[in-house]
Amino acid sequence: MQGILGQSKATAILQSALASDRTHHAWIFHGNEGVGKFTTANAFARILLCHDPQTDLAGQREACGGCESCKRIDHPEAVHPDLHIVQKELAAQSSVATVRSRKLLSIPVDLLREYVIGGETSDGKFHDAAASKSPALRHGKVFIIDEAHLLAPVGQNTLLKTLEEPPPNTYFILVTHQLDQLLITIRSRCQAVSFASLPDEVINQWLANNELNLTERETQWFIHFCNGSLGLAEMTRKFELVQWARDLLPGVMELSRGKAAPMLGSDTAEKIDALAKTWVDSHKGASKEAANKMAAHLMFHLLGQYARSRMQHIAESAPVNDPITNEQQLGPWLCLIDSLTISQKALSSNVNLTLVMDHLFSHWQQAVNAQCYEPLQWQ
Ligand SMILES: [Zn+2]
Repeated sequence: MQGILGQSKATAILQSALASDRTHHAWIFHGNEGVGKFTTANAFARILLCHDPQTDLAGQREACGGCESCKRIDHPEAVHPDLHIVQKELAAQSSVATVRSRKLLSIPVDLLREYVIGGETSDGKFHDAAASKSPALRHGKVFIIDEAHLLAPVGQNTLLKTLEEPPPNTYFILVTHQLDQLLITIRSRCQAVSFASLPDEVINQWLANNELNLTERETQWFIHFCNGSLGLAEMTRKFELVQWARDLLPGVMELSRGKAAPMLGSDTAEKIDALAKTWVDSHKGASKEAANKMAAHLMFHLLGQYARSRMQHIAESAPVNDPITNEQQLGPWLCLIDSLTISQKALSSNVNLTLVMDHLFSHWQQAVNAQCYEPLQWQ
């Protein structure tokens, strides 16, 4: 786990569990997206499955790197028979036709039955429980359930018994950025480890290793936008979100000053749609609907972070004890933040994307011009 960046608290908890030789069998790794939870789960699994774990001079337990288990994990194409990664994309490989053909918006119970707990799937077939089988490499088994909040309550309930009485040397790691979506009964059976947002230095270091040719101002924007998430930094590079900022934010600024930016609604909608299409093309089995939501989420994050950064700037430069100036200047941005929340809700209930973005910016323009910052309405 030495290579994990900025998560010393979380890895210290795991190291102390490893050192005690009584490692808890069920874990929840929770924290913001893109801060290293899944990477840490894999590194932890590598140590748990290693046949000859070593303790270094600092007392840290690490995998040996040379045993059959380590070699299987480290080889990019080898499959480790005792490391089971359950994520929504696994549905594409399911033997159940209805699971294969569904949109990848959740982790269905059938997938859990097929790959973890066993039992009858909705097509009437019976599956042995992978969790109860002896480990193929005779050492242990690890199940990592990624985005565990995508398990519906019924799926979480079927997992309870296995979490309560797991076979010996079998470990479960539930990874999630929405801890509140996990049932209290699941949470009470697992040891929870909280992952912090990464400090700015980590994002700065990432930027130093990845040449994005940013100006100083764009670098500041990038750090603020990533908000301590290396996952978001990767997404920003992959999907050229700096270009989104370059293309859109001047128009947002114009609107906040009462000037017209008539294309902003359709421009934002087009960018969301284009990103979603690229995502679907590069992710086998991905659904356009889920990709749209993901891309819209990025756009709302971009606009929201910009509004917050403007508010911070105003608060820092406004004279103290000048509530009127503050209110007049902060009003548009507060209104934008509220309207973003309402627009995102409208999108999740499947209102047309272009309509949502158009409505968002035309409402905001009216609010700014009238200096009346009523929240956006959707009937
Ligand atoms: Zn090893």
